[in-house]
Amino acid sequence: MLKNIDKKYVLNVYQRNYVNFKRGKNSTLFDDKGRDYIDFTSGIGVTSVGHSNTRLSNAISEQVNRLIHTSNLYLIEPQAKLAKKIAELCGQDVGIFFANSGAEANEGAIKLARKYGEKKFENKHYKIITLEHSFHGRTLATLKATGQKSFHKSDFAPYLDGFSYVQNIDDIYCAIDDKTVAIMIELVQGEGGVQQFNKNEIQKLAKYLKDKKILLIVDEVQTGVYRTGEFLASNLYNIKPDIITLAKGLASGVPIGAVLTTHKDLLEVGDHGSTFGGNFLSTRASLEVLSILESYKNSGELDEICIYFETKLKELLLEFPKMFKKIVGLGLMRGLRCFNTVDLTLLIDNAFKQGVLVLKSQRDTLRFLPALTITKIEVDEGFKRLKNAFSKVS
Ligand SMILES: *Cc1c(COP(=O)(O)O)cnc(C)c1O
Repeated sequence: MLKNIDKKYVLNVYQRNYVNFKRGKNSTLFDDKGRDYIDFTSGIGVTSVGHSNTRLSNAISEQVNRLIHTSNLYLIEPQAKLAKKIAELCGQDVGIFFANSGAEANEGAIKLARKYGEKKFENKHYKIITLEHSFHGRTLATLKATGQKSFHKSDFAPYLDGFSYVQNIDDIYCAIDDKTVAIMIELVQGEGGVQQFNKNEIQKLAKYLKDKKILLIVDEVQTGVYRTGEFLASNLYNIKPDIITLAKGLASGVPIGAVLTTHKDLLEVGDHGSTFGGNFLSTRASLEVLSILESYKNSGELDEICIYFETKLKELLLEFPKMFKKIVGLGLMRGLRCFNTVDLTLLIDNAFKQGVLVLKSQRDTLRFLPALTITKIEVDEGFKRLKNAFSKVS
């Protein structure tokens, strides 16, 4: 049986549900038994234009029939075009480095900050402050950048030096010392309970850091690429960070990561690199994804579905007042904060049995990250199934 093969040969680091998905169309998945599921997870915020999107599949097949990879030693046409497109959409004069994942993009951001600290100050600045509920990745450096203590297991020690954590945005000011080079934050903490920060608070911080010449790094690995309704959450918050990282939704499932920075001349030849990063396959895919999503945003359809999804969450909140406290998050990055009497795992299992996929964040938040192209029909069907699932629990 496939499950046994998986258990025997794949390292057991994931809590895996052994459903065998065979195909998908937009936000609907089909398993090997022909059952369908409404997908409110989009592969954890990745398949931004839905499953088997025709435009994306065609662009990818056309590209792979010509070239997949040549290396960064030669010009890569879609990479250059993608960099230009991302810079235009983010509205800042940025230079871009392409990597393959969120953690790798954040590694690049940390390296940039370290070099900035070396070049711009007489006594090297190298310390980076992050938040206690943050998540920045699973490599050794990004694990240490992640503020949640549960990620700093002694098993993997020693970790990199130079990271410290604060609980709230307000605590950052006191934590800054004469070696601080950067602050790294998410604007909506995806793994930290889908918690969004207050706009004024973030704008005040951004201004303070700019005056002090301390870098603001915004990890938009999850919030980026229209997830919160704008191309970047930074656009929504109206701030201009020094460094922004992207990954998850950028190529709708083809692995890619990106570091955007306004400090365009900091890194020089040989300072950083990646074998796969920004190859023909991933950058061609991403160009198509951005083209699809840009028109979707400009036509008003994205804003409409964001509002529609929120309405449906409000209905659920009203229908199950003993289960859910409030709605959190922005755009199509949403959560329902549960009372601590609620068994989230049971809710998610019941939802699955009714044919709808949802996620959790922390111990108390039911999390929704649907494809940005999800239809109202799929949203309706998903919420109908959720109501059935939750009625069986309450
Ligand atoms: C998912 C995520 C990462 C890590 O991305 P990977 O592609 O898994 O390495 C980093 N930061 C944030 C905010 C994320 O949501």
